[in-house]
Amino acid sequence: MTLPLDQGTAAASEPIYVSSPMLPSMDEYRQHLRDIWASKQLTNGGQKSLMLEDSLKSYLGVQNLALLSNGTIALMVACRALKLTGEFITTPFTFIATVHALAWCGLKPVFVDIDPVTMTIDPKQIEAAVTPRTSAIVGVHVYGNRCDVDEIDAIAKRNNLKVIYDAAHAFGTRYRGRSIADYGDMSTYSFHATKLFHTSEGGAVATRHNDLDAAARSLRNFGIASEESIPGTGINAKMSELQCAMGLAVLPLVDEEQAQRLRIFQRYNEAFKDIPGITTPPLGDLGEDSFQYYCLRVKPVAGTPSRDALYHRLKAGNVFPRRYFWPLCSDTEQYKDLESAEPARLPNAHAAAREVLCLPIYGTLTQAELSRIITGLRDACGVAS
Ligand SMILES: *Cc1c(COP(=O)(O)O)cnc(C)c1O
Repeated sequence: MTLPLDQGTAAASEPIYVSSPMLPSMDEYRQHLRDIWASKQLTNGGQKSLMLEDSLKSYLGVQNLALLSNGTIALMVACRALKLTGEFITTPFTFIATVHALAWCGLKPVFVDIDPVTMTIDPKQIEAAVTPRTSAIVGVHVYGNRCDVDEIDAIAKRNNLKVIYDAAHAFGTRYRGRSIADYGDMSTYSFHATKLFHTSEGGAVATRHNDLDAAARSLRNFGIASEESIPGTGINAKMSELQCAMGLAVLPLVDEEQAQRLRIFQRYNEAFKDIPGITTPPLGDLGEDSFQYYCLRVKPVAGTPSRDALYHRLKAGNVFPRRYFWPLCSDTEQYKDLESAEPARLPNAHAAAREVLCLPIYGTLTQAELSRIITGLRDACGVAS
């Protein structure tokens, strides 16, 4: 397997962004559209959504999966299905949607620090943050690094708490031969265009528990159980047939995309391993890891450039890395005044937010573009290429 051949040279003026969505062939997509036109069913659990749910269940190896309109709504639906109230314990080192979704449902976030290496919620910090009002732990498999699911699930059991894992970065992540969504009570996915597998906009909840799956299915359709019975306060969280068609056309491309990303990951790790002040990410196994992001940590030593200096240097060369996840959720207007948001309590999260730099990683990145990114970063670090 090789990287795509270059179409001419990658001029320095061409911008390179951190992600680029997988696009199926138009013919493939059109085939699905023809079926939808023939069925005259555009949403509400049509043929394409049934097919996509089945395909994703078998691809991910999960017992139940309900498609939803996006990953934020998936967290809100999980929150309602689990009947959470009061407080939830979570990580500040995540995309803001994780915290907003549960806050939108009226819950109060309680932040605890992250593990300095995996950057996922540190289980050792969780129990001290439990109060009589705590109803859940919300972990995030950030960059596809899995949370310490064994410890977290054990803590939840001891303290009678529910567990949601935000698996937006963990499509296809497996642990001990099982889907990562087999842990906790419910796992949520985002199928946004920037995520590895996507439906343009979309999401899902997966769970081992049939009753929670049934609750999610009812909640996504206004809480309607039957023509005569509307027992729940539901919402409209359905995925349309057009989005499902995109998912069905994209899913067969995921394995090849991950194989390409693995090669880019290896190339980056090799190119940056000798640069002082830079730590490369651990390389996962194909079929176990998601390869959603490639994230360096930049910790200046003896005059080497800071993360922000590298970020601006790359941008000046029209390469757009991202500082995911800076600022921390605990530093935003809405949450910064919470007691648990105090920076002194969250040293590892602050270090991560200061040091992370996510580089472009997607299957259609050309050799010339890769060379531009690698040379740009090595030059910015003052290391010969
Ligand atoms: C993308 C993302 C979400 C939100 O998903 P949407 O589909 O964009 O609503 C939630 N959590 C994390 C960690 C994400 O990266």
